[in-house]
Amino acid sequence: MHSLYNCTYAPKCFNSYDTYDEWIAHEETAHAPHPEIYFCGEIVDDGYRVEQCNAGFRDQYDFAEHLQENHDMHLSSAFELDSHAVGPRTQNFWCGFCKSVVDVASGDQEAWAMERFAHIEEHFLGRDGPRMAIANWVPIFMVATEEEFR
Ligand SMILES: [Zn+2]
Ligand SMILES: [Zn+2]
Ligand SMILES: [Zn+2]
Repeated sequence: MHSLYNCTYAPKCFNSYDTYDEWIAHEETAHAPHPEIYFCGEIVDDGYRVEQCNAGFRDQYDFAEHLQENHDMHLSSAFELDSHAVGPRTQNFWCGFCKSVVDVASGDQEAWAMERFAHIEEHFLGRDGPRMAIANWVPIFMVATEEEFR
């Protein structure tokens, strides 16, 4: 039997849990979800076309990894990363079941985290639509570009 609560850092992590508390404890400690979404602002010139990259990432670590792998840039500090991003956009989170960025009204990190977990739990439980499994989760880097959310 599959556990109901799945880590939303798929495809990097496929841990799953039977209870809400175990699930959020795992995400908080293993991944430290953060209310920032980065959109890559790098200009790509392949000798044929010049385009802005625009790929979306839900935290600075994924964005840093993308810059390294795709643009051969090795940056680590938040300040440096910010200067290569469009954004960062704060006070929202990526929902891979809705396939969209969800706005969060309230302010602090704790409130943001609870709102995010509560939103995603609704999908796992199928309270407001079909019950979702992590196989249905679409990672932000697969679909998001900054233009879609401007
Ligand atoms: Zn995980
Ligand atoms: Zn890029
Ligand atoms: Zn959602």
